[in-house]
Amino acid sequence: MRAAVIRDFYRDLSIETVNNPICPENGVVLEVAACGVCRSDFHGWVGEHPKVTPGSILGHEYCGTVVAAGPQAKHKPGDRLIAPFILACGACPHCATGVSNACENAIVPGFGTPGAYAEYIAIPFDHNLVHLPETMTPALAAGLGCRVTTAWHALTDRANLRAGEWVAVHGTAVITDFTC
Ligand SMILES: [Zn+2]
Ligand SMILES: [Zn+2]
Repeated sequence: MRAAVIRDFYRDLSIETVNNPICPENGVVLEVAACGVCRSDFHGWVGEHPKVTPGSILGHEYCGTVVAAGPQAKHKPGDRLIAPFILACGACPHCATGVSNACENAIVPGFGTPGAYAEYIAIPFDHNLVHLPETMTPALAAGLGCRVTTAWHALTDRANLRAGEWVAVHGTAVITDFTC
């Protein structure tokens, strides 16, 4: 398959032919329909993330169609799915108490395992994925797995925002020299 691979930090991703992913016993292989570009990808791309090294394939907010399913997979070939960026095990104490974002065995594609800047991605723990509605475009759906859920949690839980209230969003900008 083709994939966008980091060969050198701060440089263009290298479009290469790499091995197709092997289907996990407890998961699926998705044909990627769309993948978002996240700020976390930037940190990996510039070499600031310890799990991103030359040879890595980024991409952790994505959706696609199942093309292979392992014997313990929840989903089947042909299913159109959206993925969260954290693939939680579903069995550890954190998962058992509803905080799967703190899963002890979590896998985050792009950070230690190949991500979705590729034609296909292997996904263990596919119980984390949900069906992609026919009414939603893949490009829109891809953002649900990271940026939307992050903002949703910040607004509804951390800020406890209620209907009718106003909120001010403050952002910071990082000035980076792209001329190197
Ligand atoms: Zn992200
Ligand atoms: Zn877990």
